[in-house]
Amino acid sequence: MTDFTSNAASACRALRACRRPGRSGPTSMQLRGQQTLGSACVPLAQHSVRTVRALDEERMVEVEWEGGGHSLYPFTWLRDNCQCPLCTLDSAQARKLSMLDLDVHTGLDAVEVTNDNKVSVLWPDRHTSAFDADWLKRRCFSAAARRASREELFLNQRHYWDSELRVPTADFQEVLRDDRAALDWLLALRRVGVVHLTGAATERGAVARLAERVGYLRLTFYGHTWQVQDKPMANNVAYTSGKLGLHTDYPAMHFAPGVQFLHCISAAEEGGESEMVDGFHMAELLRREDPEAFRTLCSVHVDFTDTGTDYCDFMLQSKKKSIAEGRVVRINYNNATRDSGAGPPRAAGATLLPVHPGYVDVMNRRENVGDMLTFDNWRLLHGRRDYRSRADRARHLEGAYLDWDEVMSRLRILRSSVRGNA
Ligand SMILES: [Zn+2]
Repeated sequence: MTDFTSNAASACRALRACRRPGRSGPTSMQLRGQQTLGSACVPLAQHSVRTVRALDEERMVEVEWEGGGHSLYPFTWLRDNCQCPLCTLDSAQARKLSMLDLDVHTGLDAVEVTNDNKVSVLWPDRHTSAFDADWLKRRCFSAAARRASREELFLNQRHYWDSELRVPTADFQEVLRDDRAALDWLLALRRVGVVHLTGAATERGAVARLAERVGYLRLTFYGHTWQVQDKPMANNVAYTSGKLGLHTDYPAMHFAPGVQFLHCISAAEEGGESEMVDGFHMAELLRREDPEAFRTLCSVHVDFTDTGTDYCDFMLQSKKKSIAEGRVVRINYNNATRDSGAGPPRAAGATLLPVHPGYVDVMNRRENVGDMLTFDNWRLLHGRRDYRSRADRARHLEGAYLDWDEVMSRLRILRSSVRGNA
């Protein structure tokens, strides 16, 4: 619990420093299926413009702020982002102005601060634009503001961990019930990569309920949700009682699922513990300790394959780098579905494992029945020990996938909602 609290709290503190209020919208009762319970955000920041002037030489508008500091906005950018009803469809917050109608060399006839604290621009073709001060402030072009805005939107700063990690924990029912708990859960899922939820019922359907809380789950060839059990004629190595080496799920798909939920409905009599490793941390260690191996994993494509029948029949084939991109954004590693066709063994991840900084044992002891692991499938490698089930009650996990777009979307909405209600 301690790690979760401190991570979530520090994430919240970091986020508050660069808050971005949302626009007002329908309340939760007005939209069917809406999964954020609180009302929409009220803007918290209030910025005032002291003076404004056009710098014709640079073709920029300079805004000086009441609180100190100034921001520069290019003429063309202002014209392109005019918020008037002719140029913007307000109900969708979407641009109507066609690029064909945008004069990228536009000048500017006049600029002034209005009584209601907007920056008003008169263009040479007599079109006028009025920009809200807060709206402008949030779009400041300074490098620091851009960095803060990017981090606010995408939360790419991660807390790397090794075997010392105390896995963040939250209560399943509370996450369903309470927006702040749900936000803390998603913030920790993004920052740390794994959150252990306790207290779900020991029956199928919990992963789907949690996915509903976010948006919707990702359908794959293994179905909307999937049952991890020892099955005869298993169409996946997970559906046996054998050990599962560390892996990411589904690199056989070019767009692998971003997030995974794994719910323990019935534990094994013996063994079956889940293990996890922070793939981003491993990659960082590898970059330092064996730069050539790191470069190889970042550059050589490995073939993955997955063939069988489940939700329907499938014959997947993909080519992926084990470490996607120089700044590590995704790990693709799955020995079971690595194809025989191509990719030297060294590139296939053989060098990745010896440097791993230690597993975290997370779930599937008998005391974990009902618990659920939610984790970043683009980052963590997970596996399990082999196991033996009781004759009358087989080990049973239910799993589901989501994608990061949907998860980050819910996170941003929850953040707006929680701040608005604070
Ligand atoms: Zn306009």
